[in-house]
Amino acid sequence: MSEVAMERAELQIQIDAGKSLPVMEAFYTLQGEGNYQGRAAYFIRLGGCDVGCVWCDVKESWDAELHPVKTVEQIVQDAIQEILSDIKAAEIASGAESMEALGDAAGTDMIRGCIVVVTGGEPLMYELGPLTKALHAAGFRVHIETSGAYPLSGEIDWVCVSPKKFKAPLPEVISRAQELKVVVFNKSDFLWAEQHAAQVSPDCKLYLQPEWSKEKQMLPLMIDYVKTHPLSTWSLCVQVHKYINVP
Ligand code: SF4
Repeated sequence: MSEVAMERAELQIQIDAGKSLPVMEAFYTLQGEGNYQGRAAYFIRLGGCDVGCVWCDVKESWDAELHPVKTVEQIVQDAIQEILSDIKAAEIASGAESMEALGDAAGTDMIRGCIVVVTGGEPLMYELGPLTKALHAAGFRVHIETSGAYPLSGEIDWVCVSPKKFKAPLPEVISRAQELKVVVFNKSDFLWAEQHAAQVSPDCKLYLQPEWSKEKQMLPLMIDYVKTHPLSTWSLCVQVHKYINVP
């Protein structure tokens, strides 16, 4: 086997074990959707998805090979550094006591409990044990956004399942959902949403979210649907990050 082939094989072993993962992008922003809408959150978007939604707005995530593979340690360090640098910049701008003066320990305390959302692509195509364990060790709260099409792995504090017609969610994943987010693309999606709502636990939060390109068309129907199904506990959710121009 050539040296290049051996390096590739070694990298694949690391990916299969979840010790290294392809990262399309990672950024600190506000959660724009669902139950934690408006909360500060660091997003880790893993590359790779075979679900194939026609309206997918991150199609560039589909091919995992286009994205750099990073070790779990590097991914977690990037998260810590980016959040702390945002906090530090704000402290300096406000003239408040800087984190340098407070020391590193204070900086680490400031990220304790911060939300990290692992998304994709389809993040459950990977073993998430090592990443979620390292995120917890650093003090983060770990959320996942998934289609539910692959088995759950890792230590996850909040499971958001957004089922897709193109690859059905696994029963064992949808039953673990704490949040069910159904993207509404056309009228028939209300019935489809109800079919999935019947599979979640009684305390799962239910959200109907218009697909972005159909928002104007679908919103009036969705408002009517929520108003005329008051006992079903659906909430309407729009992608607020797209209105406030954050990633
Ligand atoms: Fe795109 Fe998500 Fe559908 Fe994959 S599951 S195709 S990333 S919308």
